[in-house]
Amino acid sequence: MPEGLLAGKRGVILGVANEKSIAWACAQACAEQGASLAFSYLGEGLERRVKKLVGEFLPDALMLQCNVQNDAEIASFFQEIKNQWGSLDFVIHSVAFADKEDLRNQFVTTSRAGFALAMDISAYSLVAVSREAAPLMKPGGSIVAMSYYGAEKVVPRYNVMGVAKAALEASSRYLAWDLGEKGIRVNCISAGPIRTLSASAIAGMRLMLQTTEKFAPLRRNVTQEEVGQTAVYLLSDMSSGVTGEVLHVDCGYNVMGMYGVEDPSQDA
Ligand code: NAD
Repeated sequence: MPEGLLAGKRGVILGVANEKSIAWACAQACAEQGASLAFSYLGEGLERRVKKLVGEFLPDALMLQCNVQNDAEIASFFQEIKNQWGSLDFVIHSVAFADKEDLRNQFVTTSRAGFALAMDISAYSLVAVSREAAPLMKPGGSIVAMSYYGAEKVVPRYNVMGVAKAALEASSRYLAWDLGEKGIRVNCISAGPIRTLSASAIAGMRLMLQTTEKFAPLRRNVTQEEVGQTAVYLLSDMSSGVTGEVLHVDCGYNVMGMYGVEDPSQDA
């Protein structure tokens, strides 16, 4: 019998690209707590890499292609989960995409197509995925999505992704209301900046990491592992009364209102 906070639970992890992915740290943390896992990967390009990474750690894990832009693929992904498992306890949505140019230039230059693309993959997909996952879940089911502070405040050059994250967070609250009737919870983790494949597309990433290290109350950046541990909490029955929440895992950066004024050498 597996032991741990997620013992006996079955969960789907969307968004593993490589060993640096936040989704991968979540998967490891969930497996350590006794969960059985299924994974999606995006296209043939990532299939080999994800199958190798997951296969070495969890040889029996289910792995299926799923592009979240495609309703039919989402439906067949969850149909296969139903065929294999019958039911599902949790989903981690750790998926986002925006055109690189839109994370470099001024937000005001965002094209209609770039805006729609970022919203589709990074926000609407949570709705589409939850719609297919919820019928497989019993009361106690839990869905967790990954957000960032750029949803709440202006982070220059995060741009359209900040707008998509705001939509993701709002969607999670509406989903929390709809699915709460069935006892299913929906929450977001707002993670601090972390070096990953997606993050490399964000032009200001190096400065975001430096700024967090300097001004977050914990004076450092957060790790993938810390996000994974928080995901375990939100997926487990330990958080049974928590839904529609955005939980910051950012070394406290979001509580700061002003930076640098603590330096007495700068006093007039
Ligand atoms: P990552 O590149 O490892 O993961 C992003 C994943 O999205 C990849 O696996 C990619 O295949 C997947 N994806 C993109 N388009 C897709 C599509 N159409 N269909 C299915 N999958 C698709 O990067 P990450 O940093 O681990 O990102 C995971 C999540 O965490 C994202 O939502 C990201 O916005 C969020 N996040 C990241 C940071 C950070 O600084 N890295 C901070 C806060 C939130």
